[in-house]
Amino acid sequence: MVVKVAINGYGTIGKRLADAIVKQDDMQLIGVAKLSPNFDALIAVKKGFKLYTTSDRVKKFEDAGLHVEGTIEEMLDAVDLVIDATPGGMGAEYKELYANKKVKAIFQGGEKSHVAEVSFNALCNYGEALGKNFVRVVSCNTTALCRVIGVLKNAFGVKKVRATIVRRGADPHEVKKGPIEALVPNPVKLPSHHGPDVKTVIPDLDIFTSAVVTPTTRMHMHVLNIVVEKNVDREDVIRVLEDAPRILVFSEKYDFKSTAALIEWARDIGRPRYDIYEVAVFGDSVTVINGNEIWMMYGVHQEAIVVPENIDAIRAMFEIERDAFKSIEKTDNSLGVLRRWP
Ligand code: NAD
Repeated sequence: MVVKVAINGYGTIGKRLADAIVKQDDMQLIGVAKLSPNFDALIAVKKGFKLYTTSDRVKKFEDAGLHVEGTIEEMLDAVDLVIDATPGGMGAEYKELYANKKVKAIFQGGEKSHVAEVSFNALCNYGEALGKNFVRVVSCNTTALCRVIGVLKNAFGVKKVRATIVRRGADPHEVKKGPIEALVPNPVKLPSHHGPDVKTVIPDLDIFTSAVVTPTTRMHMHVLNIVVEKNVDREDVIRVLEDAPRILVFSEKYDFKSTAALIEWARDIGRPRYDIYEVAVFGDSVTVINGNEIWMMYGVHQEAIVVPENIDAIRAMFEIERDAFKSIEKTDNSLGVLRRWP
């Protein structure tokens, strides 16, 4: 089966998803929709993507010299599934239209969990999305937490998780967002929303999180503390992380000592838009104390990390592939996601 896919919302996430869909042999990109006739729209047209918008905006696009294929409603008539990548909260407003058009829909992490039948992470609960009509791919931070906690839980069992999320203030293109000079508790009253969000994927987890927003744009960093059920060595933890898909362990011996180094690495190996799909663990930060208490730090490229999960969600929803790891492998091969580096 080849799933016909539309992307509603062609911004930071949507444009990456469009490029990823084009790389899949079991999916076809029918079109992308957005509201403003900006350079993203122009590039989409130059890439050969069919452009859609709301009926009241068609003229605005045509005035800017951008050919519009039709309205968002017409785009939905031509597809099996829509990936909603509109700004957080807007997906919920679109849900009724998707349901009326009888298309399956994937929502992003900016939506509340009840927008979908299941909150999704490929490594943790692929099976729960099989055959579903509405799936939410959890946010960038929650995706990273789920991957790391999920693989450690499988290997050692997890007693409790405590994490601090050092958040990027904005994506690189978001000139109107801050902070420029402050560290902002996000929120002051604990916990942050991340712990409860992880529990939408891994229920019954003892997790408590805090978050701080920082004046940086390129990556988040997590400081993670997990108490596991078995006594473990540092080497056991590293081996589990290294063996897991979508998690890379970077060594200090190659000077991986900051998110800046990770971004430079991604640029140097030729990643499109310097995208890092993997959780980027600072290997030397992995520490075990008291026998079963693991500490580590890792970087999360917010713009890219959810891309592979969206692709897997489609395969699960159409039951093209029932095995999580086969879908993960297919997706990762298509995107150039690495299992080890170097
Ligand atoms: P964005 O603002 O970069 O892009 C949103 C796109 O939607 C823009 O192209 C805009 O023109 C379009 N749009 C706005 N209103 C629309 C409407 N009514 N109909 C159709 N298109 C509309 O947003 P983003 O950062 O890509 O975020 C999209 C979703 O992904 C959100 O739920 C967000 O929480 C989630 N997410 C974002 C990140 C990130 O770091 N940017 C990471 C993971 C998940």
